[in-house]
Amino acid sequence: MLLTISTTRQPATDRAFLLHKNPGRRHANPGGPRVADFGGRSRRRWSSAGRTALVVSAAAVALVAAGCTSTGSSGSAASSGSPASSASSASSASAAARHPSATPTPSVSAPPLTGKIVGIDPGHNGGNFTDPDAIARQIWNGAEWEACDTTGTTTDGGYTEAQFNFNVAKYLRADLRRDGARVIMTRTSNTGVGPCVNRRAQIINAAHADVAVDIHADGAAASGRGFTILEPVADGPNDAVIAASQRFGGDVRQAMLAETAMPESNYEGSGGIMPRDDLAGLNLTTVPKVLIECGNMRNAVDAGLLVTARFQQQVASALTAAIVRYLRPA
Ligand code: ZN
Repeated sequence: MLLTISTTRQPATDRAFLLHKNPGRRHANPGGPRVADFGGRSRRRWSSAGRTALVVSAAAVALVAAGCTSTGSSGSAASSGSPASSASSASSASAAARHPSATPTPSVSAPPLTGKIVGIDPGHNGGNFTDPDAIARQIWNGAEWEACDTTGTTTDGGYTEAQFNFNVAKYLRADLRRDGARVIMTRTSNTGVGPCVNRRAQIINAAHADVAVDIHADGAAASGRGFTILEPVADGPNDAVIAASQRFGGDVRQAMLAETAMPESNYEGSGGIMPRDDLAGLNLTTVPKVLIECGNMRNAVDAGLLVTARFQQQVASALTAAIVRYLRPA
């Protein structure tokens, strides 16, 4: 027998919120909010224009240094960003003396996420509304059986959570690629059905992502405001990534406060953070991951933010900042 959306999956109720069926399994945040400083750190934003300017600058310096002695060496000096070090003859040494500003050349470093893999799971899917049988199929979430997926919630005005999640994911993907990352998405349109929540975890695990984020918005009581970061609880498959996920969650919290107008949740968790042991995306993950409820779509103030491209871009920017911070070398 199949469950129907109308009886168990009201569009106005988010899946994560719906899973609040056993309050005893939810946990207060034992460590309280974690504090990290985003204020004094400026992120470098990389653009092709900026890189070109640096390379051109390096090439110009190399040409100045090499121009008095030889040709043919400036290309390699420019491309490597290394100082023009071919000054081995007396004449080149003399040239360097006449052009003291020509050395040394500043090095050109890679974008901050070069070589990194990031997983993005935009919750739900726009087509889920059309196929209740498919999304009601039962899957094992690591702790219990649950539905393959749900429709997600909506604002009072009918703006869907699935659309919000997908928009933020697209902005985030662009930001991460700009910063050099390879990005894995669990869905690449907002018109399909699924995939199931366990499959979403598997996709990101199989990619061996360095870090991942599940993007959602909540469907709580209208009085509730703010974002909540849901963190995994050790259950076997995710044991090795609990501490890392908590650290990443703290980074996400600080970045959201710094870069968006959304406050911490005033209705669940502690300081905007809440461990959860009943979600497939967190139970089954083998990579560091959190799920963020970016706000409450049933609250009028939150909804006013959530539906705007500006806020969606700010969330993407905050998540990018958190990911860069989390993955930066120690
Ligand atoms: Zn959701």
